[in-house]
Amino acid sequence: MIVSPEVNIQSCPACERIAKCYGPILGRPGVIDLASDGLLWGCGTCGLFFRSPYPTEAELDRQYAKVDTKLWAEEATRPDFDLAERKLAELCADGHVLDVGCYSGRFLGKLPPTFAKYGIEKSVHGRRESEEKGIRILGARIQDIPPAEAQFDVITAFDVLEHIRNPADFMRQVARLLPGGGVFVGSTGNCDHWAWRMSRQDHWYYFPDHVSFLSPRWFQWFCGFEEGLEVLEVVRFSRCAGGRGMRLRQAVRFLRYHGSQAFHRAFRTASAGSFAGGAGSAERATRAPATNLLRDHFMVFLRKS
Ligand SMILES: [Zn+2]
Repeated sequence: MIVSPEVNIQSCPACERIAKCYGPILGRPGVIDLASDGLLWGCGTCGLFFRSPYPTEAELDRQYAKVDTKLWAEEATRPDFDLAERKLAELCADGHVLDVGCYSGRFLGKLPPTFAKYGIEKSVHGRRESEEKGIRILGARIQDIPPAEAQFDVITAFDVLEHIRNPADFMRQVARLLPGGGVFVGSTGNCDHWAWRMSRQDHWYYFPDHVSFLSPRWFQWFCGFEEGLEVLEVVRFSRCAGGRGMRLRQAVRFLRYHGSQAFHRAFRTASAGSFAGGAGSAERATRAPATNLLRDHFMVFLRKS
C-alpha cells in the first residue's frame, strides 16, 4: 500500500488515539464531489472507522449550498422510522422531542400530538416542509440550540452520525440536551457487520458525504467513557425493505463479487497489485454491490441517568 508521508499518521477524532490506515477508499458517486475519496482509518481503542483526508466544514457547506435538496427523494418505506416509532411508544409517551436531521419532518409527523416537536435541519426545502407540519426548526446544527431550549425528553438522529467528523462531540451535545431519564435514538451503518468487514474499503456506504463509520461497539465505548449515558438496546436492521428472496439474491451477488475479486487477486501479476495504478486501476471500475437488505445498519437506544 502506498500512503504519502504527510497522511501516514492520523489520530482518531473520537478518542484521539493513533488509528490504523486500511488504504484508499473506493468511493461511490453522491451529492457532493470530493477531490479524493481519501483513506480509510480504523481506531483500535474506540472502534470508530473514518475517512481522511476530508474537506473542512466550510468547504462542505459550499458544496451543499449548490445541491438542490429536492433531489434527495424520500423512500417509499422507512423501516428505521417504523422501528423507532414502535420502540419509542414503549419508552416515552409525551414530552419534547428533537429530531436532528429531520429533513421534511416525516419521522416527527408519525409521532402522536402528545409530543412537542422540534427539528434541526440544513436543507431549506426540508425546513420549509417540516414547518408546514408544525415542527419548530431550531437551527442547522445541534450546536445552534440556545441554552433556554436545552431540554428534550427524546432526541433522535437517523442517518446523521455518518456525516459527522467527530461523533463523540455530537454525542456530548446530545447528553447536554437530555434531562435525567431522557432517551437518545440513533441509527447508522454498522461497520462491524460481516459484509462490511469483508468489503472494508470497498463498501456501498462510502458515499462522499459519509465520513464516520460506527458500530454498536463504539456506543458501548462512548457510554463507558462518558458518564451519564447507558445503552438500553441495540437493534440491527436492514436500511431498505425487501423479502427473503431479495435478501438472498443480494447476499449471493455480494459473495460472488468478493469471490471474483479474490480470484483476480490470486492470479494477477505482481505489477498489477499496487494501489498506485497499472491493472489495479481497472479493478477500481467495479465496486462491491450494496448489502442494504442484510441488516447492516443498527439502531441504538440510550438513556441518560
Ligand atoms: Zn478512537
